[in-house]
Amino acid sequence: MTAKRAEPRHDGGTELFPRMQSDGFEQVVFCTDRTTSLRAIIALHDLRLGPALGGTRFYAYPTEEYALTDALNLARAMTYKAALADLPLGGGKAVILGNPSTDKTPALLQAYGTFVDRLNGNYITTVDSGTSAEDMDVIRKTTRHVVGVTEANGGSGDPSPMTALGVAEGIRACSKFVFGSADLAGKRVAIQGLGHVGRPLAKRLRELGASLVVADTNRANLERATNELGAEVVDSKEIFAIKCDILAPCALGGVINAETIKKLKCRILAGAANNQLASEEIGRELHAREIVYAPDFAINAGGLIQMGLETDNFDWTKVETKTRNIFNTITKILEISQKEKRPTSDVAVQLAEKRLDSAPRKTRKS
Ligand code: NAD
Repeated sequence: MTAKRAEPRHDGGTELFPRMQSDGFEQVVFCTDRTTSLRAIIALHDLRLGPALGGTRFYAYPTEEYALTDALNLARAMTYKAALADLPLGGGKAVILGNPSTDKTPALLQAYGTFVDRLNGNYITTVDSGTSAEDMDVIRKTTRHVVGVTEANGGSGDPSPMTALGVAEGIRACSKFVFGSADLAGKRVAIQGLGHVGRPLAKRLRELGASLVVADTNRANLERATNELGAEVVDSKEIFAIKCDILAPCALGGVINAETIKKLKCRILAGAANNQLASEEIGRELHAREIVYAPDFAINAGGLIQMGLETDNFDWTKVETKTRNIFNTITKILEISQKEKRPTSDVAVQLAEKRLDSAPRKTRKS
């Protein structure tokens, strides 16, 4: 079983049904609202394990095709993420097309919430790039199928520190596998992106004794990392060529591609960014080059675990225990990959598919 990835297509045709069928999508909803100019896409991938939980991304996509491809890729990754984290959830994601700084209005978010509501709980939305807990409070005015609201409204707060904890545990697991010890003291870690996840991750890794090399397009983030964590700063374009033990992409998707893979001088690739590999082929090439890759949807599940358990008599200990278990999940993937001589990216998809196949098909809500 190999991971399939829908690449952006620029041939003018969407070929949506073949894409949905070959990648196992259940439903894609296109939403428009004339009054607020809302344009949104909700992609539901696989709901065999439960309702699809995934964030709403608000982004100024260059084309509708990019927006659709992003929604599809992210939704499928959510299916695998939930399956590997052993959550009773399916995979879904939504994108709102527009500039969050100028196009986001309460009326538009509420119109969007109405569409989420019409899915009757088959899709539960939450925060993603371009949306905030405050936005979820607004969306909740028109649907109850939303988590990640503000703490004042009963939410559990920003999921990013939990994502960072899971990534750190995954990095420790990789370190144990490659260097024989999970101890990160003296290890050199390069981090791309010091945002909501990258920053707490950097702090945690520093506390565990690692030295840091960092890149970000935001100068204030870099200054803070230098002053608070003694991090060495490099240009964003150079981060992939840095000689280091571990490279942690925590900014954008698609960053490990035909161009950057040639530059890598790390033993381990393990970071928070979704859809880090530009294609399946890159996963195979990493394996051939003996760079140990922690599949993104396996290592970055901490935030989803927090969101997924938010309504279930919320218990931080349970969330943290489940997140720390990412260490075992990554170890299992690496061991199978070594034994069967297969890329970790393929192994992770296969493990997730196995759990999906074992699920009894649930009766849909109506
Ligand atoms: P964020 O927007 O808070 O942080 C991204 C950081 O990357 C910012 O500091 C930004 O300045 C920097 N950046 C942007 N372009 C860059 C470039 N070219 N080079 C270097 N730095 C650059 O996002 P986040 O919430 O920290 O998420 C980071 C990644 O992790 C995303 O891919 C996201 O989808 C993924 N992820 C996040 C969570 C979560 O809980 N927040 C969970 C799972 C996955």
